[in-house]
Amino acid sequence: MDNLHCEIDAIRQRLGQKLLILGHHYQREEIVAHTDMQGDSFQLSAAAAQNTNCETIIFCGVHFMAETADILANSPENLARRNGQRVDVLLPDLDAGCSMAEMATRQDVENCWNSLTTLFDAEEIVPVTYVNSTAELKAFCGQHGGLACTSTNARAVLSKALQKNSQKQRVLFFPDQHLGRNTALKMGIPESQMSLWNSIEPEFGGNSSEQIQNSRIILWNGYCCVHQKFVSGHIDEIRKLFPKIRVIVHPECRRDVVEKADESGSTAFILKQIAESPAGSQWAVGTESRFVERLARQNPDKTIVNLAFQPSYCETMGLIELPKLAAMLLSAESGLKRNIIRVDDSIAPDALRCLLRMLQAGS
Ligand code: SF4
Repeated sequence: MDNLHCEIDAIRQRLGQKLLILGHHYQREEIVAHTDMQGDSFQLSAAAAQNTNCETIIFCGVHFMAETADILANSPENLARRNGQRVDVLLPDLDAGCSMAEMATRQDVENCWNSLTTLFDAEEIVPVTYVNSTAELKAFCGQHGGLACTSTNARAVLSKALQKNSQKQRVLFFPDQHLGRNTALKMGIPESQMSLWNSIEPEFGGNSSEQIQNSRIILWNGYCCVHQKFVSGHIDEIRKLFPKIRVIVHPECRRDVVEKADESGSTAFILKQIAESPAGSQWAVGTESRFVERLARQNPDKTIVNLAFQPSYCETMGLIELPKLAAMLLSAESGLKRNIIRVDDSIAPDALRCLLRMLQAGS
């Protein structure tokens, strides 16, 4: 393993600023050690877009993140700045996908849209996609006046979408039902004004037409298997063991978990809250366990534990291993780049439009 670390360091030094290695917060520690920047998916893609020197990005994350980095880094504006020179975005393992992103396919979302537009004018529905989705769905939103959101700005995006034209406005939110529901509840929208769309049901996603007509938020039936593992009983158990502990969870968790926790928010929010808490604080954290374990190492003056006794790791993030990173660097240095993620030109402009609308919506 030591040899691999040395090899990676040497190649990084030789490639210098031509190479940018990005690592998601949920990556293995030995991978994070070799990254130029760590962050959540959108922070990393935005960094990729702003970097003017690099020719290659190795994205240590999952497939949809590399797609977003490709769309932003190779936007027409950035291409013009680099005289047409593309930045190649590489993913160390092509099997590193996201089960939640795969729960909403373009075809299923289009079928849903076609059903909804038998009840409403298309202008009355704004499609909103969590950035944890395929480029095809971002392009769908771009084509239909919609936008993307992150777990940080979901509330600002939903507010903007619901104000778009009139009181009649409604949102089709995909793929994560929990982020959509938890955000809408925080905005004061009752669950009675939401419906859950199950794409395998033949009629209106398993709802009556009246239910859909009374809904301001139509939620796709997707979820993150890592965050859905947390249940409210975990909070009861941890509070019995540590009566003074504060519970902080990600909004991809179920509604009852978010409501029972002391605080909820994005990965960036969790990181900040814990970093700024006084020495001696106790935290139970309901999110991906590699990130929680890193938080514990970075805050040795505090007690930081996983909310559940069984750790909850994102398996596909874990597919990025040191030998794969080393092999990718060796091939990139030799000029034989592998695993290039390139969003097709037929969808990239619409997907970019969807992401830019999100940035305009603020946070
Ligand atoms: S943690 Fe969940 S949403 Fe994030 S990549 Fe893994 S499966 Fe997808």
